[in-house]
Amino acid sequence: MPMEWHIIPTGRVWVDPGGPFGLVPQPLWRKHQTPDEHGRVPMDLNCLLIQTEGQRILVDCGLGDKLSPKAQRNWGIEWPHGTLRENLAKLGVAPQDVDLVIDTHLHSDHCGGNTTLIEGQPRPTFPNAEYLVQRVEWADAMHPDLRTRNTYLPENYRPVWQAGQFRFLHGDTKIVNGVRCVVTPGHTRGHQVVIVETAKAPVLFVADLASYAVHMERAAWVTAYDIAPLENITTKQRWQAWALEHQALLVFEHDTTLRLGKLEKDDDGRLNVRPVHEHPALALFG
Ligand SMILES: [Zn+2]
Repeated sequence: MPMEWHIIPTGRVWVDPGGPFGLVPQPLWRKHQTPDEHGRVPMDLNCLLIQTEGQRILVDCGLGDKLSPKAQRNWGIEWPHGTLRENLAKLGVAPQDVDLVIDTHLHSDHCGGNTTLIEGQPRPTFPNAEYLVQRVEWADAMHPDLRTRNTYLPENYRPVWQAGQFRFLHGDTKIVNGVRCVVTPGHTRGHQVVIVETAKAPVLFVADLASYAVHMERAAWVTAYDIAPLENITTKQRWQAWALEHQALLVFEHDTTLRLGKLEKDDDGRLNVRPVHEHPALALFG
């Protein structure tokens, strides 16, 4: 069976624009996002399912289904395109069928779905999967500081470790033929992106290297969530060049309108992400 990949919606949250846009002046970011009546902007929580060589690989898994009512209110979470579980089912995949879960990093909006409540306790959502994360990311998540402790929530990853299901990666790693993890420090020290080699062009799951597509166009637009913003800028510049050179298809995990696109350079040397709206990978968005 040839390689297949799908972008999987797991929910949408509403956040203060100070998060994704940091120091970017409002008149500039407002060209890309329209706040709601509470002044919040939407962020999707999309992940990726890769099926190749009999393996089912899930990259990130959203906030998950164990949020308290208060946390649900704080996030303003909604499910315009269904939940992770519902969408996997539409593709004929049950949680026990997932072989590998790649956590790009351990912030709660990326790995909350690692675990689910079973008899009131957080347990691995994917009982037969091996979970992959960078060793450095694990170390940082196990020792959060004052700034990161609200997003490094042990219930999202500790039960996976206790079940013996984590494999820690030491840098760039080939996962299976055609799928590799590459460390992209800046958002966190151990943040990684995932590259899928397809017959046409490579696919880059950008994760929080660039939350919205516009963050990929403008290297200096960094989020307030980034632990090392200057390092993220340098990392991003490297990947902008890579994306141009390889004509890569870019998957944006948090963008609500531009989920898939290609980076292009216009005659003035300005970078733009050209959206791709028609693609089999987008089938779940209806
Ligand atoms: Zn994120």
